[in-house]
Amino acid sequence: MRSDRRVPVAIVGGGFSGTVLAAQLARRGVASLLLDGSDRAGQGVAYSTCEPAHLLNVRAEAMSAFAEEPAHFAERFEAEGGEREDFAPRRFFGGYLKDILADAVASGCVEVEHKAAVSAGREGDGWIVGLDGGDGIFADALVLANGNQEPEPMRALAETGPRYINNPWGDDARAAVQELSRTNGSALLIGTGLTMVDLALSLDAAGHRGRAVALSRRGQVPRSHADFALVPVDGDAVPKRLLPLLRWLRRRSAKVGWRAAVDSLRPHTHALWQGFSTADQRRFLRHARAWWDVHRHRIAPEVARTIARMATEGRLEIVAGRIVAARPDGDGIAVDIRRRRERDIVAERFDYVFNCTGPLGAIARTRDPLLKRLLHDGLVAPDELGMGVEVDRRSRVPGARALWALGPLTKGRFWEIVAVPDIRGQAAAVADDIAKELGRDRHA
Ligand SMILES: Cc1cc2nc3c(=O)[nH]c(=O)nc-3n(C[C@H](O)[C@H](O)[C@H](O)COP(=O)(O)OP(=O)(O)OC[C@H]3O[C@@H](n4cnc5c(N)ncnc54)[C@H](O)[C@@H]3O)c2cc1C
Repeated sequence: MRSDRRVPVAIVGGGFSGTVLAAQLARRGVASLLLDGSDRAGQGVAYSTCEPAHLLNVRAEAMSAFAEEPAHFAERFEAEGGEREDFAPRRFFGGYLKDILADAVASGCVEVEHKAAVSAGREGDGWIVGLDGGDGIFADALVLANGNQEPEPMRALAETGPRYINNPWGDDARAAVQELSRTNGSALLIGTGLTMVDLALSLDAAGHRGRAVALSRRGQVPRSHADFALVPVDGDAVPKRLLPLLRWLRRRSAKVGWRAAVDSLRPHTHALWQGFSTADQRRFLRHARAWWDVHRHRIAPEVARTIARMATEGRLEIVAGRIVAARPDGDGIAVDIRRRRERDIVAERFDYVFNCTGPLGAIARTRDPLLKRLLHDGLVAPDELGMGVEVDRRSRVPGARALWALGPLTKGRFWEIVAVPDIRGQAAAVADDIAKELGRDRHA
């Protein structure tokens, strides 16, 4: 590996997590190198969309990149004619993040390298990070902000050819949406969560008038935001075990409304999750997660109206059921579907099938070369639930000096660590920790 370059901090991943960490480090005078292998540095997966119909699912007033400046994004949105209670287009937020990165670069504290990191290993007191193409970089501290991992191809569809689109964010998906809209072909969207909503919006915006079916085991679709009064709750009043907590949530929903009940848990979710036994965490994932996700991660009312309109016009059918088998069928895919509570299996043909099941749930099956290597070498370990990598309360990888992970990779530890209001707090805390660690090193 060729290497003569040394940086204080190497950050792998230039999505929201890595970008905000780089900016926070710059605010503390700590220099970093941001590595991103996808041409999306400063935006990441969520905010690199060009689709105007893709709106944020959190109001502008809660989307600041900096916890210490809560109005940072809302003021910018207002300056462009938006309202702080509104849901801005995601691409507008992407522009905001890109400017944050540009400012950090202009400060002289951040450099960006548009290359993937493919390996990392201990080197003296720090790390050597191998880049795609053969170069290497020495870093005193290393941060993994690789983001959500792409889902695995679904087993039943793995052999069905190019009409099965596994990555709903990729170029193939965009081309398929365009073709479907030209031909008014039929589409099966596997999954009924936020990823499905995005794809349905893209189809609608492209003028698709064919038939789309969205399928998941329970057929639960994200609920809409609406105005309601917050009813905060003291952490001590919230049950700490899963079953009593779910009963409490049901009672409280009946009293104050489900939106107020669910959102009142928000300040307590990290503590609740970390207080659960592993058995309760598993039980939550198996039985309560689908319900929680659609009530907690809500969509903008405008988005909900589009989805409802598509359903009313017969262009989007939400189905609870499962796929039994699938096979290529001419220029399409035949899929055997068993609807929930029905015995018969019905074969339907679709021009395209999209995997909208969301990110990979098992880190051991990641295809990211760097993560694979780190897992293989035992430098990081899967968390107890196998969702992400094991970190401690400070987001440090246990047993590995000067190694942190950030964002969705840490959901085993924190669970609710995918949305901006959660990650920005984590990024600020990690920046503090790194600044302290490197300062201590310098004075040692
Ligand atoms: C479609 C979508 C919409 C969302 N909408 C909202 C919203 O409205 N409000 C909200 O609060 N939250 C929202 N979220 C959640 C949240 O904001 C994102 O999950 C968050 O942006 C995660 O950022 P990240 O940087 O951790 O990951 P990512 O955005 O996935 O970025 C990771 C980056 O790292 C790069 N990378 C990965 N591995 C390597 C490697 N080995 N070397 C170099 N680069 C690498 C990737 O190419 C990518 O660019 C949304 C999420 C999605 C997916």
